[in-house]
Amino acid sequence: MRTERRLLVLGAGTAGTMVANKVHRKIPEWHVTVVARDDDHDYQPGYLFVPFGANRPEQLRRRVPDLLASGVELVTGEVDLVEPVQHLVRLADGRELAYDVLVVATGTTPRPDQTPGMLGPEWHRSVGEFYTLEGATALADQLAAFRGGRLVVHVTEMPIKCPVAPLEFTFLAHDFLTRRGLRDATELVYVTPLDGAFTKPVASRRLGHALAERDIHLETDFVVEEVDQDRRVLSSYDGREVPYDLLVTVPLNMGADVIGRSGLGDELNYVPVDKHTLRSTEHDDVFAVGDAADLPTSKAGSVAHFAAEVLVDNLVDLAEGRPLSHSFDGHANCFVESGHGKALLLDFNYDTEPLTGTFPLPGVGPLRLLEESRLNHLGKLAFRHAYWNVLLPGRPLGLPSAMSMAGKHPE
Ligand SMILES: Cc1cc2nc3c(=O)[nH]c(=O)nc-3n(C[C@H](O)[C@H](O)[C@H](O)COP(=O)(O)OP(=O)(O)OC[C@H]3O[C@@H](n4cnc5c(N)ncnc54)[C@H](O)[C@@H]3O)c2cc1C
Repeated sequence: MRTERRLLVLGAGTAGTMVANKVHRKIPEWHVTVVARDDDHDYQPGYLFVPFGANRPEQLRRRVPDLLASGVELVTGEVDLVEPVQHLVRLADGRELAYDVLVVATGTTPRPDQTPGMLGPEWHRSVGEFYTLEGATALADQLAAFRGGRLVVHVTEMPIKCPVAPLEFTFLAHDFLTRRGLRDATELVYVTPLDGAFTKPVASRRLGHALAERDIHLETDFVVEEVDQDRRVLSSYDGREVPYDLLVTVPLNMGADVIGRSGLGDELNYVPVDKHTLRSTEHDDVFAVGDAADLPTSKAGSVAHFAAEVLVDNLVDLAEGRPLSHSFDGHANCFVESGHGKALLLDFNYDTEPLTGTFPLPGVGPLRLLEESRLNHLGKLAFRHAYWNVLLPGRPLGLPSAMSMAGKHPE
């Protein structure tokens, strides 16, 4: 028999919204409350296209109250402290919220303040970013005014959310500059702390090849020490310097400060969880999902989606007094825009590298894995519609959360 419980979800982003809406439907006996920092919910994958004029900011933002099922309680405020032993959450304005079960879905945030010199008078000017709507909008102006020189795309440290996004930005910048007749006048450089273009060896080879084909210089193993905005130079701990005219950086990403402050996080404020059940390793009544969790897979909306489904099934187990029986496999599914109206598609999990083959149907597709295709690009564009209308309301997308091996082959 199910008993009434208070479920508190921290964060009304991708994962928090999906979990709240799904639990409300699947466990009607539970009272679901979501804490949202403000009324804005952004479709973050759309930020990538804003600098190139392909998405307008207003297409990417909706109101949180419109995205939650009626019956889900919304509390707007800043979470200031979690007290897991007392089962209490304190908000910055002094309000207190008690819970029986807590889901942390506070995501990850770009932190330019963590790299010396990154924030300064040139922030959102010659030092741009596209990981916030404000940054992506400012970068559109910088790119429109760019007349050639050194355009450097830079990743500060891993993990970042959507680890393919800076590569996608680089490919789209190559296209954008080519279309404007500026590519020959521009040196394009991709600077990464990794030893290759990407984290996964198979994908790294393919993506490294795609950079080389486009005459984009790859600077690897670059651990940035400082951004010198006066000299327009990035310097690394091992003494290398990378000059730029326009720098597009992905700052260090960190989980929410409140997680660190509450003693719930690791050194980057991510919540340690069992990677299969999503339950906190410290507190039985606390779960984390989406970018807030320390899962050893990509921080991505697709991961948030697949993990949210498993989490909700485990919460049903909890509601019915059973041991948690559902296991998340780390499934990630990432479209990689490669320019010229094409995209690659990567599908992997904790144990399996990206494979070749077809997706979602074995042998049929229609999407092809690890290959550039027009359909993959159209799939990426169509996803925004599915996000607002299927994913966030917590409706089934028709894709199993676990990675299927059918129709897929190693490279
Ligand atoms: C440029 C870019 C491109 C991307 N492209 C893709 C893509 O193509 N495919 C893909 O799968 N993923 C992509 N992503 C990643 C995807 O958007 C995230 O992984 C996803 O949004 C994670 O969901 P989340 O709920 O964990 O975090 P979020 O959606 O970021 O939500 C976290 C929420 O918590 C709130 N919060 C944080 N702290 C507090 C607090 N103290 N009090 C109250 N509220 C708080 C925040 O305001 C936010 O609303 C991209 C991201 C970016 C930035």
